[in-house]
Amino acid sequence: MSIILDGKSLSKKIEEELKLRVAFLKSKLNFTPKLATILVGNFPPSISYVNMKKKACERIGLESEIIKMPEQTTTQELLNCIQILNQDKTICGILLQHPVPKQIDERACFDAISPEKDVDGVNSSSFGNVALGKKAYKCATPMGIVTLLKEYKIPLVSKHAVIIGRSPILGKPLAQLLLNEDCTVTVCHSKTQNLKEIVKTADIVVGAVGKPKFITADMIKENVVLVDAGYNEGNVGDIDLENCIQKCYAYTPVPGGVGPMTIASLLTQTVESAEKLAEMS
Ligand code: NAP
Repeated sequence: MSIILDGKSLSKKIEEELKLRVAFLKSKLNFTPKLATILVGNFPPSISYVNMKKKACERIGLESEIIKMPEQTTTQELLNCIQILNQDKTICGILLQHPVPKQIDERACFDAISPEKDVDGVNSSSFGNVALGKKAYKCATPMGIVTLLKEYKIPLVSKHAVIIGRSPILGKPLAQLLLNEDCTVTVCHSKTQNLKEIVKTADIVVGAVGKPKFITADMIKENVVLVDAGYNEGNVGDIDLENCIQKCYAYTPVPGGVGPMTIASLLTQTVESAEKLAEMS
């Protein structure tokens, strides 16, 4: 029987601990620390993600404000909004919901978020510092994945992790975190040749492609650990889990695996930031 890496139950456990930390914080501050979430446009999955994050903040006692901006927002308008939030002392975290409309320079906007408030770990300075093993906020989904693997004591040292996908918010930062855990890491992408042969050599396979059931049973070796970060229409991941489960040692379900851990990581880093704010006040 393979082990289910249950992100839903771990995230609940994390939230319980965060709730206590927030209650303690509120007794020290004369305001409730807030996560500001910027939503540009009306992309339905993004609307649902920001609402989920708002509810999660409320569950642990943090305030959350969703700043809605129109679809035609310019880069400069978004930069101006981020600058205002950077200066607001009641805001301990800023999250820019990804993806933003095409006319916006997303990288410039991510990088405008003050590193002290970058609780989603998306700016270049956070990425660089984390890559070098320095203290900085980590990208939320990769952090959630590593937290989940560690909770279940999945061996990482010397293991070969193959990540399929190299986006700046998922595949690349996860590669850095797993390298920091002494994994040997291979990152695959759309130009990778012999993908199946590479995936077959993996002890840990991470689906971060955004293509339903892209990783199939014939691509994996026996006793592999499967991490499915993909979230496609109809609650389908990037791994054909149904047919892979018999072969694997452990796997993350979809839903209930990586998704809740992303939110738990965001909350954890928001509370850390609020604690730093409390120390300074
Ligand atoms: P993305 O920016 O579209 O990146 C997809 C990656 O997959 C790219 O690096 C791309 O390669 C690679 N790829 C595409 N086709 C491929 C192929 N045929 N063979 C090998 N690699 C291929 O997507 P993302 O934002 O990283 O998201 C990936 C998935 O994770 C999506 O399903 C998304 O919904 C999900 N996600 C989930 C969470 C969560 O909290 N659960 C958070 C973030 C993302 P190139 O670089 O060469 O184009």
